[in-house]
Amino acid sequence: MIEFIHVDKTYANGTAALRDINLRIEQGEFVAVIGLSGAGKSTLIRCINRMHEITGGTLMVDDVDVAKLKGREIRRFRRRIGMIFQSFNLVTRTTVLKNVLVSFVPELPYWRKWTGIYTREQKIKALEALDKVGILDKSFVRVDQLSGGQQQRVALARTLAQSPDIILADEPIASLDPVTARVVMDDFKNINKAMSISVIMNIHHVDMALEYADRIIGISQGEVVFDGEASKVTPEI
Ligand code: ADP
Ligand code: ADP
Repeated sequence: MIEFIHVDKTYANGTAALRDINLRIEQGEFVAVIGLSGAGKSTLIRCINRMHEITGGTLMVDDVDVAKLKGREIRRFRRRIGMIFQSFNLVTRTTVLKNVLVSFVPELPYWRKWTGIYTREQKIKALEALDKVGILDKSFVRVDQLSGGQQQRVALARTLAQSPDIILADEPIASLDPVTARVVMDDFKNINKAMSISVIMNIHHVDMALEYADRIIGISQGEVVFDGEASKVTPEI
């Protein structure tokens, strides 16, 4: 469960990016956050994993008061939350499997961090994650040989391998063509439904948001201006 209680976020330069946000997102929901560029969508999701710090109110993730976490606790907390970006953030000159295994680096003992020797269980977990997003056959292919859609699925597999409770996705399909975008959205939906992982996704394609998400949250100038079930939204809005 994610709960925003009177949350504000004002950047150091004085920009009020979030104003009095009140939201409750249950475990397993698929939420699309929509709004114009600059509305505060990125800021909203980046506060959830403490990439940005809130400046007012309270943000709870289950029983964790996110603003109160310190140092090592932040790192441990972030392990429960996967993050997917528009730009994939992969190491393109190495294999798909190695990109997924990277998610285990924080779990390795220090001497394995140097050698990059992963355990058998970690390798199995990585391969299972690649299987879940349908690119197991690409495991030993270099990332730069893949299409954009396949690369985004590698990023999704890397996130899945850490067994997250929540996946935050910041415009994950913005750089993909419409056909590939659907394949990636299908993956998000499957993962959300099959594994009960919450998905909070910023997306500017309103049609895709309505088709795939359970719930739509509309943001304008840092405020929630709409919050409702996707199935009840008429396409005109
Ligand atoms: P969106 O994701 O909806 O495009 P953002 O959350 O990126 O919106 O931005 C919300 C507002 O906060 C915008 O006015 C943006 O310029 C501003 N903003 C975002 N990041 C920063 C930052 N690091 N420092 C100052 N202002 C920022
Ligand atoms: P995106 O659309 O992927 O969020 P942006 O271009 O909005 O990318 O922002 C890129 C980075 O710059 C982000 O880390 C964001 O927080 C930061 N940023 C955005 N707007 C501002 C701003 N007005 N001042 C300072 N940093 C900003």
